[in-house]
Amino acid sequence: MATARHYTAYRPRVFTPAERKDVTILLGGLTWKHERLVQGVFENMGYRAQPLPNVSRADLEAGKELIDVGACCPTTFTTGNLVRFLKSRTEIEGAREVERKYVFVTAGACGPCRFGQYHESYTLALDGMGLRDFRLFLLDQTQLDQGSTPGGGLEINLPFSLGVIWALLCGDLLTDLEYRTRPYEVVPGSTDRVLAASVERLYAAFHDRPRRPGTLRSIGWHLASSYFVRALREVKALWDTVEVDRLRVKPRVKITGEFWLQTHEGDGNYDIKRWLEKEGAEVVPPPIAVWLDYLIHLTLQQLEDRGRSDAAARRKSRLVGGVRRAYHWAYGRLRAALDEVPAPLPDQDELARLAAPYYHHRIDGGEGHMLVGKALYAHLHRHAHMICELSPYACMPNTMSVGAMSNVLGQHPDLLYAPIEVKGDAEVHALSRCQMVLTEAKKRAQREFEEARESTGLSLDALRTVVETQRGPRRALFAVPHAGCAGTAANTLLHLARLAH
Ligand code: SF4
Repeated sequence: MATARHYTAYRPRVFTPAERKDVTILLGGLTWKHERLVQGVFENMGYRAQPLPNVSRADLEAGKELIDVGACCPTTFTTGNLVRFLKSRTEIEGAREVERKYVFVTAGACGPCRFGQYHESYTLALDGMGLRDFRLFLLDQTQLDQGSTPGGGLEINLPFSLGVIWALLCGDLLTDLEYRTRPYEVVPGSTDRVLAASVERLYAAFHDRPRRPGTLRSIGWHLASSYFVRALREVKALWDTVEVDRLRVKPRVKITGEFWLQTHEGDGNYDIKRWLEKEGAEVVPPPIAVWLDYLIHLTLQQLEDRGRSDAAARRKSRLVGGVRRAYHWAYGRLRAALDEVPAPLPDQDELARLAAPYYHHRIDGGEGHMLVGKALYAHLHRHAHMICELSPYACMPNTMSVGAMSNVLGQHPDLLYAPIEVKGDAEVHALSRCQMVLTEAKKRAQREFEEARESTGLSLDALRTVVETQRGPRRALFAVPHAGCAGTAANTLLHLARLAH
């Protein structure tokens, strides 16, 4: 007769330094670009590392079978992703070898969100597969120096964490270039070709990064060295070979939403960014850098609250303020190596201020007030014609933000907003909903372009003649001055008109 087994919390078996040469660290949850660069950081620190395959629809089905039914869609997708990979390896190598040869590293947190429960889903699934001894380690996303995981095989120290942060920033910069270039490329496929080469160049930079042991030396080197700036200048030379036609009129669509869904590129969000491009849009992707900035901002807020009666909190607050300034400076420096074409970081204080009438910035969990703040920021600064907000099925924090957006729309009825609930298996419904709003965004982009052209008194032919005599606007790495329009074509037109006069 079967006997019931009582619940025991998962404790990973130890992972020792001696095992490093035989054990592969699996990572996932980001775009292929970010993961490749982070892989370079792991390898630089002496680990073997491998990104999981990109998430697919089959991962959703696998996740549903093994974890609780109320799990949010990102948890289901990412658990299924790990499970399917391990299953495929188990069929080839056997369960005991898989437990010995692989470990999984992922980010964790606490708060009013299933992000704090990811590891429970993973362990439930591992139990279901008979891989209870498989090792998975959680990294705290708010701690740069966490010491060693049990056994000392993986050490989360400052040189490692700074490498990961720099890798995420570089991944963001490439992603920004990718999405602002591909819709306008003259030679189809040239963006993806240059992007792949850029990722490999930066992967090599992270893989070969000079090691500066020790906290202060590592911080000093990352802030002062031109090592990554030089690598990015080589990347810049690659992008300079891509020719674009920015007079193609396209609606700009800002992606917002839950962290994983908005960052992801693939089946996990119906591959909506590529879909939008195929539908004729220019996508404004969400940088991970903004999320990291938000985490610093949250910490500062908490310290400021405590600092009213606590001198230690006030001192720490000054320190975190310095970290924040250094972070912005570092991002700006990397961005400058790409001629300042990728977008700058938005001001977190402004995001909080914009969101304040609708969503209190002390409420964290999920994207907190940022979902509302980013939508208003893009709309009021005319950075996008439309907001596409990706909400995971069964996500509590996002449900609150979407509710707050109803009030925002009441106050800003001209904000084009497409909230898409992503369940993973209702693609046609979700995309057709997005398409309805996109149709209006296309009309707005066209209208804006025509009005801009009429204001210049120039014909389209005359503008094209100006383009032919100017190499600048035909380069992928050309920062089109923002002339108050949301669309790239309208801003380019106004810039060309200035050159013509
Ligand atoms: S924010 Fe929502 S979707 Fe993301 S992990 Fe938390 S509950 Fe899941």
